[in-house]
Amino acid sequence: MAIDDVFIKAFRAHRQEGDLFHHDSRLAHELFQTSTIGALMEGVYDGEVTYGELAKHGDFGLGTFNALDGEMIAFDGTFYQMKADGKAYPVAPSAKTPFAVVMRFDPTVKVLWEELTDWGHFQQAVDKAVPSKNIFYAVKVQAIFDYIKVRTVPRQEKPYPPLVEVAKHQPAYVHEGMRGTLVGFRFPDYAQGVNVPGYHVHFLNGERTAGGHVLDFRMRDATVEIDVTSDLHMEVPDCGDFLDADLGKDQTEAIERAEKER
Ligand SMILES: [Zn+2]
Repeated sequence: MAIDDVFIKAFRAHRQEGDLFHHDSRLAHELFQTSTIGALMEGVYDGEVTYGELAKHGDFGLGTFNALDGEMIAFDGTFYQMKADGKAYPVAPSAKTPFAVVMRFDPTVKVLWEELTDWGHFQQAVDKAVPSKNIFYAVKVQAIFDYIKVRTVPRQEKPYPPLVEVAKHQPAYVHEGMRGTLVGFRFPDYAQGVNVPGYHVHFLNGERTAGGHVLDFRMRDATVEIDVTSDLHMEVPDCGDFLDADLGKDQTEAIERAEKER
């Protein structure tokens, strides 16, 4: 059976039972987001939300840090900061974030996939299987990565350049033959400006010492868990640069270049 069919079967089983959303424990699935990807694209790299505050809304997710000081990944209750050197560091509760998405991960479907699959095919297979492209999906993958290419963002000084400029000089790292975990989300196309449309995924290696924002991979022996949700709780800054940022423009192309270019 192809990976596409395995996912389709997994989602269909849940859809028939009508329990895709686990209505009995709705709060468990609420996505909490601080600020918007559009503001980050515009160089709003300082926020007032601390990681201590963020942890009250979830222990699974991704984001960044004030001054754009690296990529964040969180799962199993621990937050990590992956800095420009590609290494992972613990996060102090007092650290602040200008953009992050977290939740309490409680997967709806779980799929085991031993055969080799790549980033492009993985996205296509999940896309084919999901019951709707208009709701939200959190994805967790534990696998052996024959190859994975990640990037991190380097800490910025004021005046902050837009993210598309930072992305031109982002350090990229390739890891081979490494066990690790992916944490990410699939947002609908209509989320443009609010979050990254399509997939946005971060990686941490098995030793929890290195990782980053995922650009490409080939993986095998994968355990894939997906949490389906229709709840999004977003809080935007009520002070600072966010208030004056020009957030009305179409940033589709800039997001594509800053977040997805391999
Ligand atoms: Zn990222």
